Amino acid sequence: MLVHICCSVDSHFFLEKLKKEFPKEKLIGYFYDPNIHPYSEYVLRLMDVKRSCNRLGIELIEGEYDLEEWLKRVKGLEKEPEKGQRCRVCFDYRLQKSAQMAKKLGIKRYTTTLLVSPQKSQEQLKATAKEIDRREGLEFVFVDYRKGGGTQLQSLTAKREKLYRQDYCGCMFGLSMQREEQNIFLDEMISPVNRSVLPASIEERIAVYSKRMELEKDAIDYKIVKRRFLNYRNLRSFIRYKKSPVPSHFVFYSTTRREYLKTKALPVDRYHSLSSREETIFLTLRRYNQLTGYRFESVKELSFFPIEIEKELKLREKLELGPYDTTAIIVTDELLNGEVEIYLLYRLYNDVRENLVTLR
Ligand code: SF4
Repeated sequence: MLVHICCSVDSHFFLEKLKKEFPKEKLIGYFYDPNIHPYSEYVLRLMDVKRSCNRLGIELIEGEYDLEEWLKRVKGLEKEPEKGQRCRVCFDYRLQKSAQMAKKLGIKRYTTTLLVSPQKSQEQLKATAKEIDRREGLEFVFVDYRKGGGTQLQSLTAKREKLYRQDYCGCMFGLSMQREEQNIFLDEMISPVNRSVLPASIEERIAVYSKRMELEKDAIDYKIVKRRFLNYRNLRSFIRYKKSPVPSHFVFYSTTRREYLKTKALPVDRYHSLSSREETIFLTLRRYNQLTGYRFESVKELSFFPIEIEKELKLREKLELGPYDTTAIIVTDELLNGEVEIYLLYRLYNDVRENLVTLR
């Protein structure tokens, strides 16, 4: 039986139940979800599904990430609410593609873990499957593992197995509406071009969940704990020095009073200047290198190959700025001495971060 898989929280429980109900059947997982955005989130969910299938001894096939085709299908339905017409198209498309894969592999029976998700309509899935079966000569296996306290059991399974629990369905349209309703900054769809791993980003979660697998290999017990913290994103920043743009690097947690500021950089020593109101520190790259222990040859190089945020934060400590400091620290190739225009668009917001804690 080919089992279309949407995520590990749904699939682990579902596959355990299927194994019990169909002990003689060979189950093959099929991860086909071009509806998951951004791609890093897709990678993270796939990674967790691989781990889950490994634990259950189930072969897994990864489907194509045909995002463009998925987008074409839902065109015009972007503003639909969750459980609306866009979701209907999204389930139908994934189910149809799963049926096609079953046919290609010569497998007669297929099903989907979407059946166990409380957010999805079983009736709708059944109706689509009926149509597919008639057309393709396949057999959709309908099971209801939600009933009889199944949803609660599923949640306990996810906890026991330490599965990755995403907090949105999958697509960018549903996600942006959800974040708007929650009044939460939509940082999932932002990732820096320089591939810096930002706090509480999907990339950071991938690192945490990969590390978890290393610990499991070495039989080290661990816990994933959620912590609240103050997050930061630099959305856009640059400076003009004496009316010309110059390469600049804004240190993490740099904030300014306004998005655009005109000030004067006044040298304090050979390595740094302060703005006329002393609210901004202009640091030469040389001083940045001394404080961080790196050897960047230019700010351009630093911008393309940034250091880890945790390491950069130590720089604030070394400058004795205190734990709650959000002074803008701007790194430039040369010492600034004169008129500077600063553009900085940033967000400072409450967020939740997953930390891996080893238990010994
Ligand atoms: S909200 Fe979920 S089910 Fe609906 S279209 Fe987006 S990814 Fe698909």
